[in-house]
Amino acid sequence: MTPVGHATFDFPRNAVSGAAMVDRSTRIRTLLGTGDDGWDLFYRARQMEAEGIAVANLTIGEHDTRTHPSILEEMSRAAARGHTGYAAVPGTDALRYAIAARVTSRTQVATARENVLVTPGGQAALFAALMGTLDPGDEVLIPDPYYTTYPGTVRAAGGVPVFVPCRPEAGFAPEAAALNAAVTNRTRAILINTPNNPTGAAYGADTLADIFRVAEAHDLWVISDEVYDTQTWITRHRSFWAVPGARDRTLLIGSMSKSHAMTGSRIGWLLGPEAMVADLINLSTHTTYGVPGYIQDAATYALSMGPTFEDTVALPFRRRRDACLARLDGHPVLRAQAPGGGMYLMLDIRKTGQSAPTFASRLLTTHHIAVMPGDSFGHAAAGHVRVALTLPDAQLMPAFDQILSFAEEIAP
Ligand code: PLP
Repeated sequence: MTPVGHATFDFPRNAVSGAAMVDRSTRIRTLLGTGDDGWDLFYRARQMEAEGIAVANLTIGEHDTRTHPSILEEMSRAAARGHTGYAAVPGTDALRYAIAARVTSRTQVATARENVLVTPGGQAALFAALMGTLDPGDEVLIPDPYYTTYPGTVRAAGGVPVFVPCRPEAGFAPEAAALNAAVTNRTRAILINTPNNPTGAAYGADTLADIFRVAEAHDLWVISDEVYDTQTWITRHRSFWAVPGARDRTLLIGSMSKSHAMTGSRIGWLLGPEAMVADLINLSTHTTYGVPGYIQDAATYALSMGPTFEDTVALPFRRRRDACLARLDGHPVLRAQAPGGGMYLMLDIRKTGQSAPTFASRLLTTHHIAVMPGDSFGHAAAGHVRVALTLPDAQLMPAFDQILSFAEEIAP
């Protein structure tokens, strides 16, 4: 099955050689680093789908539902009204106010329009944040496992990613000792992600306070990617923006992609100190030139629907998470980190005696079920596979049951 809208979805691949071409920049050629990109499984699943094979594709972090019709109607009305010319580069006033109001109400931290830059998705906000913090050769600490674009985005901004392993035994939360040990005189920022993709870790107050202390001790920025802020399953979302004293060194990444099922609309934001946002508006003028006006109007309308609507979009992932955890209870081979948030479940497959790439490859070959090896997200999640809870329940649950029986079959 090819889910709606996934046809053009792509992940970066390592550069191919271009013998007859004029030299490309070192930066672009080495964007993905030198290693294996770890996404072979994903491409194989896509190839099988292209050949007409029905694959239960549990690799992709995208909703199985589409953007709500009322948001699309507002988008279309805004376009018909003529909001199709160049739009305000920092974001329309209405949208910047709406984002500031959402952040203020979710974090209880007074946030102003001047703290907000509207961007084409969270990914563009990440790039802007790194451009705003790094000089060439500066280092960024990235807790490992991490979202797949982080290292390349750091390199695109001229920086050097430095991976800091998080232990499964610590719930994959970053630990102060490991962060401190990785700091050098080139370190400029820590890039965190809560709730976390791929691990589902939703950082508690202690973890956030630890990260703040490390940042303060070494005078670092903290770039906090919180695009899954509506998908928290145990406690309410804790934002780095609300850590006392942290505002002056925090850049917060937000997005409508996950909270409002608007992945294809490419709309997100960066929050930061006013002077940094002013500089990053200059960056936007020289890179994206803003986000289309009719998308911004649709986003303003979507935000006006408030937290009840956001909870409705998040609900299927909570339901599927709970159902999968119930199925796993007492399983002789597989364990899970009960996710604190997000649309994924990390399965600990170590008792099968297989590596995650082998497990995932055999599962795809024999059962036509695609999951991501933990190794695709760094080194620390080896021995785990990430299951995206992004198929309708009627397809997800039978596929999940097959994963459980497959693990029993292959375990020694
Ligand atoms: N950050 C994380 C952790 C993600 O998982 C994603 C998308 O999957 C993004 C950022 C980028 O989201 P977008 O650019 O669609 O807002």
